[in-house]
Formats: sequence, C-alpha cells, structure tokens
Amino acid sequence: MTDAERLERHRRLWTSDHQHLWHPFTQMQDWLAEEPLIVDAAEGVHLVDTKGRRYLDGVSSLWCNVHGHRVKELDDAVRAQLDRVAHSTLLGLASTASIEAAEELLRWTPKGLTRVFFSDAGATAVEVALKMAYQHHQLRGDTGRSEFVALRGGYHGDTLGSVAVGGIDLFHRIFKPLLFPVHHAPQPYCYRCPLGKERASCHLECVDAVEQVFAERRGKVAALVLEPLVQGADGMITQPPGYLKRLRELCDREGALLVCDEVATGFGRTGTMFAVEQEGVLPDLMTVAKGITGGYLPLAATLATERVFESFLGPYPDQKTFFHGHTYCGNPLACAAAVASLNLFRSRRILEALPGQVAALSRALAAAAEHPRVGEVRQRGLMVGIELVRDRRTKEPYPYAARAGDRACREARALGAVLRPLGNVLVLMPPLAMTEAQLGELAGIALTALDRATGALDRELAA
Ligand code: PMP
Repeated sequence: MTDAERLERHRRLWTSDHQHLWHPFTQMQDWLAEEPLIVDAAEGVHLVDTKGRRYLDGVSSLWCNVHGHRVKELDDAVRAQLDRVAHSTLLGLASTASIEAAEELLRWTPKGLTRVFFSDAGATAVEVALKMAYQHHQLRGDTGRSEFVALRGGYHGDTLGSVAVGGIDLFHRIFKPLLFPVHHAPQPYCYRCPLGKERASCHLECVDAVEQVFAERRGKVAALVLEPLVQGADGMITQPPGYLKRLRELCDREGALLVCDEVATGFGRTGTMFAVEQEGVLPDLMTVAKGITGGYLPLAATLATERVFESFLGPYPDQKTFFHGHTYCGNPLACAAAVASLNLFRSRRILEALPGQVAALSRALAAAAEHPRVGEVRQRGLMVGIELVRDRRTKEPYPYAARAGDRACREARALGAVLRPLGNVLVLMPPLAMTEAQLGELAGIALTALDRATGALDRELAA
C-alpha cells in the first residue's frame, strides 16, 4: 500500500466510524470532534494503527491481552479449534473444549473452588455470582438473606446487577432508580481515607465500617462482593494488608458468602496468579474474565465451592435448577484460547519471571512518584495507578472537567504508547509479556506525558 492509499483508507474508515459506531464509555460528541486512532494490527506488545504508527500497548487493550498480541500458541490453538467446531451449547450438551478449559482453570485457581460456570464477560460472571449467592441461601431455607454488601468505589461491570453492586457514582448514579438496593461500605482508599485516618495510626477502621453495615443487616446479607487487593476502575485503589482476610472472617461469622471479583486482578496481574492468594483467602464465589483467554476471545467464569454447588442438588422439579444461561456459555473457540493461554503461564514460567518485571517497573516509576503533580503511585504487580494532583501537599485534585488523566494519555499517544485514564489517575496495565526494557520505556513515556500535560494544565488554570 502506498502512503497515499493508506491515508485514503484511514480517512474512509474514520468517516465510517463517525457515521456508524457508538463507542462504549465514550462521550460521543467529543469523539465525533476528533480524529480516532484506528487499530489495524498488532504485534507482540505493540499496536499498529491505520497510518502505520506503532504504539506500546500500555493497558493490554482493556487490561486483558496478558501475553500481548498475535501470540503463536494462541493463534494456533484457535485455528485448531476452528477445524473441529466453532460453537456448541452447554445447555443440554457437553463439549470437549469447555471440559478441558474447566480442568485447566481449576489447576490454577485456589484449592476449594471446584465448579466452573462459564459465561462471556466479566459483568455476566458477576451477575451469575449474585444470582447464585442469593439462590444458594434461598435453597438452604435461609430465605431472609436477599441483600448484598459492596464497597464504595467498586466496579463489577455494566449490566444492571453488576451496576447495583458497583460503587462509582459517576458511572452508577444515573441508574440508581433501576437497581436493587445494595449497602455500600466505605472504601479502603488510604491516600484519601474516607474515615480520616493516616497510615501510621490506622487499625483498619475501614473493616470496622463493613462490620457495622453487617451488624445493621444481621441475617439479611447474602454476600459481600468486592475486588480483592485492588479496586481497579476507581483508580487502582490498593487495599491495606490484612483487609481481605479480615473480611473473609467477617463473612464467616455473619453467615454470608464472599464473592471476589478477580476480573481485573486475575491471571498474574497483581504478581500472583490470583490476588486472593496474597491474603490466603478462599472466596465462596470468584469471578474471572479478561485475561482468561489472553484477551483473545470473550469468555468469563464464575467459580464456586462445592458447598455452594451442593445447595443446587436435588430432584427435579424442586426449583433447584440455576435458571441462568447464555447462548455463548463455554464457547469452544474461547475455551481453546483459555487452555492455550493457561499453558503459556506454565511453558513460559510467567509467574516465576514476574517479580523481576514488577521490580523493574517499580524502579522505573520512582521518578514519577517524586513528580510535583503526582500525589501517589499505587502499584500491585503490573497494575499501576498514578494519581495526578494539583497540589501535592494539600492533595487538591485537578478539577474533573480539566481532564488531567485524559490529557496525559494524549501526550503518551504522541510519544508512542496507548494508555487510558481513570479520571485523574493515569493507568498502566502492561501485558505480562513486556520485557523489563519495555516496561522502563512505558514508565518513561508516562512520566514525560504527565509532566507535559500537567505543565500545560497548570498554565491554563493559572491564566
Ligand atoms: N469486574 C471488574 C473488577 C472489572 O474490572 C471489569 C471490567 N473492567 C468487570 C467486572 C466487567 O468485565 P467486562 O467488561 O468483561 O464485562
């Protein structure tokens, strides 16, 4: 293709996108006013756009392409599955690919989780978990347990059930009249502790606050739902050590189930295969998606303990069926990708290499942590949030409308990396496949980008 042909194709696609597509989580009026970056191809940890430019994929597409792109083993596995069957249902039939995927998944997930319910997105996996938790108690005769407790700042997907347990005002407030009531406890946001504590004098009062919510709803709570270790979408809010463990104990005392949403944290992201491992916690239900197929195909799973599963055993027709299913539950192509992706964790010894990469990224981010417009760098494994602030001493945030994070990401793009912000937080979620040198390059771009963006913003705000 000549340069002129490439540009012509780019312009045609740009026009067509603006005429036909409605982008998720996107203010469309802004979108229509700007030239889009159109991804045309990818290679390893780089994305290639329709103009032929290459970018480091700093957020693993949407936190999912853990091995990067065009990975031979994944490509081959999907092609091999295409030669067998692309799709068959799990309603009334079994399939080789889904059996193999469940077997392989259970080799990696915490011991004690024994059952796999496949679905197609993180949000659907959460819906499944909520309905399972509720029905579990109903079937055991504990019919008063119909309520959920969740955390402010939590994010669990965009279907109505997952929105109900979500706690990000900006995303969830408008839908409130449509939602079932959920009791939201304060979030463990240590940099801006909602309980006014400082790290040095903190005794996990945020756990006491969750206990308080349970005490007020005694015998009524079906489950506590949370993202373990890091609340991702609210800006990579990292939890203090011991927090999750204490909540596990609380659920046990109160007779409620613990649902851990590992959609973002799963598959090596926080330095261990699953975040719950770091607290030695076994959830009753655990949701996974994103990295399960290496980001290749839509697949999610809700994992359950035998105890939960057994509540659903009983002779027909006593309403013990779990009335939930999607057309693409356990899609064989996606399952084949999942098996291949999990095999890569073994053959490439990914978890063994992670500590080195995590340390390299943290060294590369040290300069960012010192930047006068950075309030805090939060890192768990290869999951990073850089919170931009107008005033480091007072922690005064940039006004939301100033779009500090967004502006830093534009600068990053010009420097050759694709990033996506969460409000004033610059997010790095690199593929686990990034080398230490590439992680260093990414952190360097992030630092230059945030320096340029905040510099320009400060000048504008001062004018
Ligand atoms: N739970 C968590 C913790 C997530 O981060 C996300 C997606 N970012 C979801 C659920 C929803 O997953 P999906 O977008 O696949 O529906």
